[in-house]
Amino acid sequence: MYLKKIEIQGFKSFANKIKLDFHDGITGIVGPNGSGKSNIGDAVRWVLGEQRAKQLRGASMQDVIFAGTENRKPLSYASVSITLDNTDHSLAIDFEEVTVTRRVYRSGESEYLINGMPCRLKDIHELFYDTGIGKEGYSIIGQGQIDRILSGKPEERRELFDEAAGIVKFKRRKATAQKKLEKEHENLLRVVDILTEQE
Ligand code: ATP
Repeated sequence: MYLKKIEIQGFKSFANKIKLDFHDGITGIVGPNGSGKSNIGDAVRWVLGEQRAKQLRGASMQDVIFAGTENRKPLSYASVSITLDNTDHSLAIDFEEVTVTRRVYRSGESEYLINGMPCRLKDIHELFYDTGIGKEGYSIIGQGQIDRILSGKPEERRELFDEAAGIVKFKRRKATAQKKLEKEHENLLRVVDILTEQE
């Protein structure tokens, strides 16, 4: 699996639609200070479901929408799509190419799509569990992140190893099953109460 393409429109400094194609090997993005190199990394983080504005170097989620310049009006929405090659089926989805899209409007509405089909944020998280690609994945290492990992809490470091070992999805399923069990246990107690009352 590898990143094939990024399409950005209205996100941060990218008012016009831009398309970046990636090929095998290493790609470097170079440009003057403030030209938008880090914004490309932010766009990838955002489309993968980042919900924390601070992680995207903004104060609120609306800050990702192109805010306008002296010569250009602000835009009303931001849209980012990434296309991944999935010929090795690393992603558990029956497509050889997977495009994930996120859009947000100034009105606050937002949408997520997988291969053009509307989906929930949860579906995006689930698609990328244990691949290292999700918003918490280690495939995006931001400036200062290595320091944060090394000086972070042991539990936080453990999360990184869990993701690499591919056990995150099992841990999530276990937590969901445990919640269900607790609920069923409470229901059972209520049934016993009712039965006792009727005896
Ligand atoms: P450096 O080399 O200094 O790290 P960079 O190339 O990584 O710079 P970025 O940090 O990606 O640059 O881009 C910063 C630019 O993006 C700034 O000029 C800022 O004004 C612009 N920018 C950020 N958010 C928005 C927005 N919502 N609307 C318009 N422009 C924005």
